[in-house]
Amino acid sequence: TKRIGILTSGGDAQGMNAAVRSIVRYSIQRGLEPFLIYDGYSGLVQGGSKIVQAKWSDVSGFLTHGGTLIGTARCLEFREKEGRRIGAKTLIKNGISSLVVIGGDGSLTGADVLRAEWPEHIDALLESGEITAQEARENRHLMIAGMVGSIDNDLASTDVTIGANSALTRICESVDALQTTAASHHRAFVVEVMGRHCGWLALSAAICTGADYLFIPEDPPKSGEWEDKLCEALKNSRDRGKKTSLVIVAEGATDSELNSIKADRIKEILSERLKYDTRVTILGHVQRGGSPTFIDRYLGTVQGAEAVEAIIRATPHTPSQVIGLLENRITTQPLQQAIELTRSVAERINTKDFKGALNLRSSSFAS
Ligand code: ADP
Repeated sequence: TKRIGILTSGGDAQGMNAAVRSIVRYSIQRGLEPFLIYDGYSGLVQGGSKIVQAKWSDVSGFLTHGGTLIGTARCLEFREKEGRRIGAKTLIKNGISSLVVIGGDGSLTGADVLRAEWPEHIDALLESGEITAQEARENRHLMIAGMVGSIDNDLASTDVTIGANSALTRICESVDALQTTAASHHRAFVVEVMGRHCGWLALSAAICTGADYLFIPEDPPKSGEWEDKLCEALKNSRDRGKKTSLVIVAEGATDSELNSIKADRIKEILSERLKYDTRVTILGHVQRGGSPTFIDRYLGTVQGAEAVEAIIRATPHTPSQVIGLLENRITTQPLQQAIELTRSVAERINTKDFKGALNLRSSSFAS
């Protein structure tokens, strides 16, 4: 039988548990043996009790939980070759040569690096006597299927990542709650949402809450000019009868000179220049919290089944795969291509060719 290792890595996201549950149950149904690897790549490096074979009932109740019940970690050792060699040994000793990784682009890159180095690790482990010739033979090839768990919706090759919908829903609920009190006091609210490099959450939240102004990393406003434009837009909107003002800012927003635009700075401007009673709300980890929306449960579940199918279909020559959603269809694509596309979008943002980058990203809205 084929053993499948399952781990979650990087930032947690709602729907990761639905994915884990689906991979466990679907692989059992397909005659495979699923193994849970606790605490991401740290668990892989530590081995021992961090690797546990999963029964059908071990994942009951997973569907409705946010976060990740099998734990996640940022693992420095795994960024080093030596750490990955130990990880390879853990897998081989457990007879696992297929891995489903649920995480962001860092985690998926890590999995692909492990796969690329796999033959080298096998040879080294064999030579040092840490694995036997039989173990080497039985685990000659590593199969990887990645699933994108990220609240930021920051992978270019899928319309939506697992967790993004729940995070956006949470943001909308929170901003709606703020609006009620804002309206009663004619206040202005500046709301900071997550997104260091990717403004999808902020942009979508602005659309869905009817914000007056938005700052995202992909569209840095001109340094020294944005303050006037902001005030003018908010004043116009009040002149038209709006009782409140709402500004949404992504945590990674900057101006054209790459100076951070922080919520407190925006508050200062609104308080001083417009004399608005202005409050700052940093939503923080509330965005990752709570139970997943139906979309993230659904995505985790159907993509989990596809991840298992991708592993079953894989031959020794199949590159690492990533499961996505394009035009409402579940897709399987080469992982490296997806990551390269994402990086090329990010580079265009960094070279300030952000309009092109935005167009590319907004294709995910259009479909
Ligand atoms: P995310 O997966 O959410 O992008 P990180 O970038 O922090 O989060 O990656 C999570 C973990 O994946 C890291 O702590 C590290 O163990 C592993 N990782 C990330 N990038 C690499 C890489 N280039 N090579 C090997 N491992 C990596």
